[in-house]
Formats: sequence, structure tokens, C-alpha cells
Amino acid sequence: MKKHLAIFVCLFIFGFMPLAAHALDLSSVRFGQHDNKVRMVVEMSASSDFLAFVIDNPYRIVVDLPSFNWAAGKVSHPGFAGITGIRHGALKSGVSRVVIDVNRPISIQSAFVLPAASGKPNRLVIDFSKSNAGSFNQEKGRVFGTLDTNNPKAPVPAVNTRIAGTVPSTVSPPKVSSVIEKPLIVIDPGHGGVDPGAISKATGLHEKNIVLALAKVLRDELAGTGRYNVVMTRDDDRFIKLHDRVKFARSHSADLFVSIHADAVENSSTRGASVYTLSEKASDAQTAKLAARENKVDLIAGIDLSVEDQEVVDILVDLARRDTMNQSKFFAGKLVNVLPNHGVGMLVNPHRYAGFAVLKAPDIPSVLIESGFVSNSSEARKLNSNAFRRKFAVAMRQGIDAYFEQVRKNARE
Ligand code: ZN
Repeated sequence: MKKHLAIFVCLFIFGFMPLAAHALDLSSVRFGQHDNKVRMVVEMSASSDFLAFVIDNPYRIVVDLPSFNWAAGKVSHPGFAGITGIRHGALKSGVSRVVIDVNRPISIQSAFVLPAASGKPNRLVIDFSKSNAGSFNQEKGRVFGTLDTNNPKAPVPAVNTRIAGTVPSTVSPPKVSSVIEKPLIVIDPGHGGVDPGAISKATGLHEKNIVLALAKVLRDELAGTGRYNVVMTRDDDRFIKLHDRVKFARSHSADLFVSIHADAVENSSTRGASVYTLSEKASDAQTAKLAARENKVDLIAGIDLSVEDQEVVDILVDLARRDTMNQSKFFAGKLVNVLPNHGVGMLVNPHRYAGFAVLKAPDIPSVLIESGFVSNSSEARKLNSNAFRRKFAVAMRQGIDAYFEQVRKNARE
């Protein structure tokens, strides 16, 4: 953490230094081969939003930036990447474009901005790989970055603003476009297989079966709108490790993760639903553990930073987590507002915080719903009824609708 502090202090000081020019200078463009992809790195005088996408006839990668001065000279391009030429110029008022001509279908894997750090300048990084005509047509239209070409802002030189401003689009670049089109929701019915979860003494009902039935009705409700892609971590009675549930959501690039549980306590009169998000404290400790256990590159939505500074990786993971936690809290707030309107009884202070392992994806807004208490016999029966499943599913769907409405609104702003 000491290292982080030092970097932030440095950035802070530079952020207040007066800067002579406000135009964007592109000082270098280079390409490198990394395993199965080609990495394009554009060095910039300031951090900037961008748009990157592919088009065909002929195949090209297009990168739009606020008006820039080309100071990169003549760019050498390796033959292996199929690059046949690089062009640049003004597109329209306030917007300049770089075009990379390629002789084959390609696919952009990720595109993001790394803020200046450790003596390295601000960098726009675009990873792409060879594709085929079929996948090219499927991916065509996918846009990375969030530059508004109708209202391009000059690059922001102040680093403190810059970091806050670039993170949502840099850490998970594909997310903005996928969220606008059709969000992918992972529903996670708790427990399963050898792990029954809470058991209702009075009724013999098992949490694992109650929540699986609830999850299936919710899945059908969401999928039925045609607005969501929905996948479940399990749709039968099987045991899945908590870590694998998070991994499942991350491998699907989920836009939202909803874990469904039912609770049991000593006091059999306790009843009502509650919504959990990760507590700030637990999350910080977890980030440290996660970092030790896993390859950090794995944590930030497919962005390969293996050739970049470890400090930058740490900062990005940290910022992604903070942003995700805010989104999770926002979603939980929507749910606790909507659920009681649909006859889903709630605990007092229904939005709660805890260090649930399944909520620890640093880049996917995640909540855990305790749908009620199986230790209360009438609530156990209610939770296991078709009538309650319907109510619950409709209420959850409305909360999810409200959440994505806001996400879209934010993306347009
Ligand atoms: Zn549970």
C-alpha cells in the first residue's frame, strides 16, 4: 500500500502543474506480438477518451480521439499482424481519426487507457487478434471506449480527475456497449448437492431446493422480457464452490450477479427478506488475499496487463472494485425499494453489508438476496410456494429493470 500512496502523491502533484498546451499529442504508435494477440500502444500527452472499432471492405481498425497532433512520425508495422498501412487525419471538428489497414478479419479483444505512471506516459492500448469472416460480422458494430464524437472534450491533464473519469470505460471497455444492447445476468442459486444450506426443522425444506425453484422462475421472468441474457450458476441439484460461482460470472462477462439464498436463525419468529452487498472493509481485505491467490491480470475483465507496471494493475483493480461496489449498492437500493411493493416482506434495515465470498468479483455488480427465513415454518412454506415465486420474480425483475435503466442513462451522459 505504501507504493500506491507514493504513486498517488506523485500524480496529485503533477495534476496541479500548469500545462502549456491542451491539445493532445500522439508521440508514439507501436505494435507488439503477445501470445495470441497483437498489442497496439499509442503514447499520448494526456489521458483521453476514445472510440475503437473495426470495419470491413477493406478490413480496418478505426480509432477516434479528440483532435490530436501527430508527433509519432512514420510508424513501422510488423508484417505478422497483417497490418498494411496506418493513416491519420481530422475527421470533423474536434475529432481526429487513426486508421489501421489490415489484410484480414480481426477482432478487438480490449481497448483501454493506462494513465501515466512510473515515468511512462499516458497510453491507449488496443489488443486485437486474427479472426474470421463469421466472427467479424458478429462483432462488427461493437464499440470500445465512450468518446462522444459529437461533443468531444479536450483531454483532461489533471491526473486526479483523469483517473476517476477513465476507470469505468477503461477497466471493462466492452461493458458499456453490451449493457446498452442486452445485459447478461447471472443468477446464482445458493448451495446445492451435498450442501443443503439452511434446513427448516418444521417443514424439512432445504434452502438449496427453495432457492433453485425461485431462481428458475426469476430466470424465466427476466428472459421472457427479451431484454436480458440470463444464465444460472446451477440449474440442478449440484454442489458448486463459492469461488467457482464468481469465476462463472466473470467468464460470462456478466453485467450483474444475483445470488439467491434463504436464511435460518435461532429465533423462529424472525422473517423477512434482506439484500446484501459486500462491505467495504471485508472487500479491502479480500482484495489483498485475492491478489496473493490469483494472477491479478485475471481480475480485470480480460485486460492483459502483464507487460505493464504492477502498480498500475493494482490501481486499476482497486478502482474497478470501488466502482463496482457503488453500482452494487445502487442496485441493492433499487431492490429494497421495489420488493416490499410486491408483497415481499423485508427485515428492518433490509440493505445490509457482509463479506460474502460470492460477492467478490471486482468488476461485476453483485448482490446476495436472503429471500426469507426457513426457520420460520410459515415463511418456509411461503418461500416454497408458486405464488411467492411469482411475486419475487416480478419484483426482482422490476428492480433489475430500474437498475439497467440508470446504467443506460449514465452511459449516455
Ligand atoms: Zn444460503
